[in-house]
Amino acid sequence: MKTPQERLTVIFDFANDFPIDPQVPIRRYFRSGSEMLKMGDTYYNEGNNEHAYIMYLKYLTLFLSKIREHPEFKRADNKSKLKAKEPTQKIMARCEKIKALLLREFAQEYETWLKEEEKRQSLKRLQQLEQMRLDEENDKKSKEELAQSYHQEKERSKTEQKDREMALYMQLQMENEHEIEQTQEALRRSQLSTEDVVPMTPDRSSKPLSNDRMGIPDNGSQSTPVIPNRASKPKLSKGLGSLRNLSIPTAVMAKFLSFAQKNTSQGKETGAFLAGIMANNELRITHVICPAQTGKADSFDTEGEEDMWDYLDKHDLLTLGWIHTHPTQTAFLSSVDLHMHFGYQALLNEAIAIVCAPKFNETGFFTLTATGMELISCCRQTGFHPHPTEPPLFEEGSHFALDHNVDVELVDLSK
Ligand SMILES: [Zn+2]
Ligand SMILES: [Zn+2]
Repeated sequence: MKTPQERLTVIFDFANDFPIDPQVPIRRYFRSGSEMLKMGDTYYNEGNNEHAYIMYLKYLTLFLSKIREHPEFKRADNKSKLKAKEPTQKIMARCEKIKALLLREFAQEYETWLKEEEKRQSLKRLQQLEQMRLDEENDKKSKEELAQSYHQEKERSKTEQKDREMALYMQLQMENEHEIEQTQEALRRSQLSTEDVVPMTPDRSSKPLSNDRMGIPDNGSQSTPVIPNRASKPKLSKGLGSLRNLSIPTAVMAKFLSFAQKNTSQGKETGAFLAGIMANNELRITHVICPAQTGKADSFDTEGEEDMWDYLDKHDLLTLGWIHTHPTQTAFLSSVDLHMHFGYQALLNEAIAIVCAPKFNETGFFTLTATGMELISCCRQTGFHPHPTEPPLFEEGSHFALDHNVDVELVDLSK
């Protein structure tokens, strides 16, 4: 287990490990700041210090340094910059407070772990001693068994030999009654033939249990059972970087597809944003927000993202991903989709990309793989372009659950 200080370093590195994508407009980064704070505050109020710390650190890293790497930074309006910088003092103070709490928490856990580890080690030593005793016992037993079966075999072969000699003697006797010359001939013949097949004297070197093998225990049949040591299983860290559950009401797809119907029938794509809430470390989609847009055969262009952000702020909602149709194709993420989704997932690991392919009656719930995140963060191409496909850049998410029982609100901002 890591020391408290080492664990803090892991958290710090984790919070710092996100790239700035120059293709994502800077206003979206400014926008994401308010969502980060919202999430951080929720964690903090729920007493989830570790995740609150990560979220606040991410905010500080983003707006105190990383944002400067963005090509639009110099041109960005001062109002947004000031607004992003304004809460940093407060957050830094809060981070210090959380850090102290975390250090105390980690120190206690470390102390407990040390005590348990000591117990585990002494238990392990006891088990090793017990195993050695068992091994010795088994070894002794198998040697005894070998010796016993050797003697039995020797007895058996002695009896066999006597029987053979007797049979030969009887045969000789019988033949002797007929003719002495024939008997001698028969004796010579039978000796010849029995020497070929059954040796008159037992041939010890060909016996399976010779003296040479006496000392070797048969490992194949004498293997001793190994007792799994459950106590020595490494303690998992408290899910740092693990994904929170995302609840997706099936109404999301139903309502969105009916909204998209007109475009779909014309073979044009439609897109919308997924918004929702976070509570008790779980995310839930509650709103499908459809911006003003122009649909094309293989993509869609949105307008007025600011209207959507206003709506999110007003209703205290988080962006949890996006949904779009593939009217004529199957459900997958195109290169343009991958770049689009990268922006979401870089800010929220749980962000999901839902693709509805009504023609094939298919729905995909996708996230980028680690390879995908790495590759897209370095890819500077725009429009449709080829990416390597192995290892896969996206995959079906495994952190979500469909909910048939709750409704969602579809907000049409295109009017
Ligand atoms: Zn697509
Ligand atoms: Zn690319």
